[in-house]
Amino acid sequence: PAHDNPDVTLITPTSPMATPTHGGRAKCLQRLVRLDLPVPTTIALSFASVHKLASGYRPDVREILEKFPSDALLCVRPSSEDPDWGGPGAILNIGMNDDRHAILCERIGKDAATEIYLRFIQNYAIDVARLDAEVFDGISGTGSKALAKALSVYEDEAEEPFPQDPAVQLAEILRSMARAWEGTTARLLRQAKGAPVDAGLGLVVQQMALGLGTGACGSGVLQLVNSETGLPQITGRYLSQSQGREALDRRSESIYLEKDPRGPSLEELAPEAFAALKDHAALMRRKLREEMQIEFTIEDGKLHILDGVRVERSARAALKIVVRLAEDGIITKQDAVMRIEPRALSELLHRQVAASSPRDVLGTGIAASPGAATGKIVFTSEAAQASAARGEPCVLVRRETSPEDIRGMNVAAAVLTERGGMTSHAAVIGRGLGLPCVVGATSMRFQIKRRTLTSADGRVLREGDEITIDGSSGQVLAGSVKMIEANLDDTFRTFMSWADAERDIGVRANADTPADAKTALHFRAQGIGLCRTEHMFFEPERLTPMREMIFARDPKDRAAALELVLPMQRADFIELFQIMQGQPVCIRLFDPPLHEFLPTSRSGQRELADALDIPVSDVTRRIDSLAEYNPMLGMRGVRLGISVPEIYDMQARAIFEATVHSNKSGTPIVPEIMVPLVSAKREVELVRGRIEAVAAAVRTEKDADFSYRLGVMVETPRACLRAGDIAEHTHFLSFGTNDLTQMAYGLSRDDAGRFMSEYVRQGVFEEDPFHILDTEGVGELLRLGVERGRSARPNVVLSICGEHAAHTESIAFCREAGFDYVSCSPFRVPVARLAAAQLAL
Ligand code: PEP
Ligand code: MG
Repeated sequence: PAHDNPDVTLITPTSPMATPTHGGRAKCLQRLVRLDLPVPTTIALSFASVHKLASGYRPDVREILEKFPSDALLCVRPSSEDPDWGGPGAILNIGMNDDRHAILCERIGKDAATEIYLRFIQNYAIDVARLDAEVFDGISGTGSKALAKALSVYEDEAEEPFPQDPAVQLAEILRSMARAWEGTTARLLRQAKGAPVDAGLGLVVQQMALGLGTGACGSGVLQLVNSETGLPQITGRYLSQSQGREALDRRSESIYLEKDPRGPSLEELAPEAFAALKDHAALMRRKLREEMQIEFTIEDGKLHILDGVRVERSARAALKIVVRLAEDGIITKQDAVMRIEPRALSELLHRQVAASSPRDVLGTGIAASPGAATGKIVFTSEAAQASAARGEPCVLVRRETSPEDIRGMNVAAAVLTERGGMTSHAAVIGRGLGLPCVVGATSMRFQIKRRTLTSADGRVLREGDEITIDGSSGQVLAGSVKMIEANLDDTFRTFMSWADAERDIGVRANADTPADAKTALHFRAQGIGLCRTEHMFFEPERLTPMREMIFARDPKDRAAALELVLPMQRADFIELFQIMQGQPVCIRLFDPPLHEFLPTSRSGQRELADALDIPVSDVTRRIDSLAEYNPMLGMRGVRLGISVPEIYDMQARAIFEATVHSNKSGTPIVPEIMVPLVSAKREVELVRGRIEAVAAAVRTEKDADFSYRLGVMVETPRACLRAGDIAEHTHFLSFGTNDLTQMAYGLSRDDAGRFMSEYVRQGVFEEDPFHILDTEGVGELLRLGVERGRSARPNVVLSICGEHAAHTESIAFCREAGFDYVSCSPFRVPVARLAAAQLAL
């Protein structure tokens, strides 16, 4: 019946053609037609009609054939909504048969005509009649004998003569392409790339420009920029006597596009066509507002534009391209900001494995901190330090890391752990240091004591063997690979300034050390949103007084030990305030369980006993007495602050003395002090009372006035529920979504890595909630906290400082909930700035 025929639209400047109905290629071709470029006659089939074709009926293609000259050869190409979703390969030279072969022999010569016919028979046989490619293996040469052989092979294998009727050929080809799109493999592949279940396919049928024959003939691609750098440069390939994408086959001997002393060029071969090509490319850039790669064919010196596709590009080139388009007035700055995927920025902030580099994968884990680095395997912090002292880059390989490993992490080029997830110690510190890190690499065997690491396929690696950690993909690679350097140039700065102009939520950094703070400032963070002070104690000269403090027998001894720590803390804060140049600095009081600071190894315990001049047995007994069944829910955070108040007293004093010093030396600061792990209002009252007393004492002693702000970390479910009470005593509430996620799910941050991938695979969780904020469950707690906090104290400053903070989804959530700022690892600050800008646009 007539209504079953495909709906055929000739592409003209005004025909109705849209990406959601006819696909991107059809839409793009229409744009080229509108620009009056020499595009061969093209018709488009809509998604709906291709879908019908797949269901099996034989289309009447007369309506299509009527649109073309009766002796034209045709090609069919896929046109899906997004070119990344793939689609069946193009089929060229449709309509070729014995009669046309005879005609073409006259027109373009026997060799070219026979070559075209041979190719078509083979393509048709393989893609449409589904014959094995090998059946043609015996056929050599391009002469009449080969042609006769190919036709007879076809007939034998397909059990029918090669179809001579162009209408039959075209109908079968359309049907088979439509079916290929609906096949299970194709469907799964495109869904993996984000295509919806019902993604449609359009097809375009275009008159062939031959590319084979007499005069200058050939085909190729051309673009105006370099795909790696994004800088203006005519690049592409051209191959004489070729069709389709043959010129792109790296094995083929393409010629230069522009004049080149090294060999023949298209510019010399077909100067007019080349000049026109360059003009067309420039016109396309201006009018399509994008860098396009042109697919073209030259037939007897005459240029045909077959298609245009968005230029492929590295992250670095992508940035350069949009900034140049905006600077040339082709797109707006806002468009430029919208066109870069925030995640792609992190590729620019770190070294990356070059796309062209082969990868010998030893195993994979969770991509916990982006970037890539190569180094020799070391299994202990000490070995890492020794390696650094020799000037040899190393990769620290541990079962998991603990505060004792900080020294090793500081000097390592990358970190690999067997256990842990996105918020494990190694992951958090790795991101903070900008150190490539793969955690939870359970596909490999870690035998730390025996100093071996076994790859997923059984290869045994030893200390000193070289590996590469790709923290962006989660892969562990053998040996060294080719890398691309990080790149923060003027283009990057210009681009980010455009983003900042749009942004309406603050972005601060989580920074613990002077190095972090410098990175934060470098990436234009608007202050420090979380300084985890415990990380300041992992330096060897700090660890000993800390341990003395922990081992103190009474408050007096403890105070004496803290006296030793005080000047160091004060110096830390002075330095942080100086680096941040008056930007806000939010300091979190001591949070982790004390026992994390104690040595776990026998030799470490012996060393500590020597340093403290007490028997080893005393040390082990004390360590045992501090052990907890569940330290994450034990004596940490404000609980420690209340039970051993001298620690917070010392920290408050260090902060205030540093403030007085900074104010005097010309970097005035209003420090923010944050109390961790609060679950009850009374906790805040107690801590606040002591801090006020310390402030008063310092004011008197120093005879100087200063201000500060006190805030609470909301990271227990109860603190969210009671945020109204708690906000009464505080200037700000900072939501710690790491602990909040842990406690909302009852899911250990440090152990979830073991089963997380299984959970995600089976769809229990859509994503790792430590990685992507669970806006439903944890989000509801946040919303309650915000609502209750704000109604008790309308001007309370709200922020989020968990690892989620850099993600677009969490930033969107925070904007909607009315947060003032997000705070994330320094290296993710640019990513968050861009994501926030895009949300505001
Ligand atoms: C949090 O819990 O979200 C947080 C930022 O603190 P930490 O990761 O140090 O526990
Ligand atoms: Mg926390």
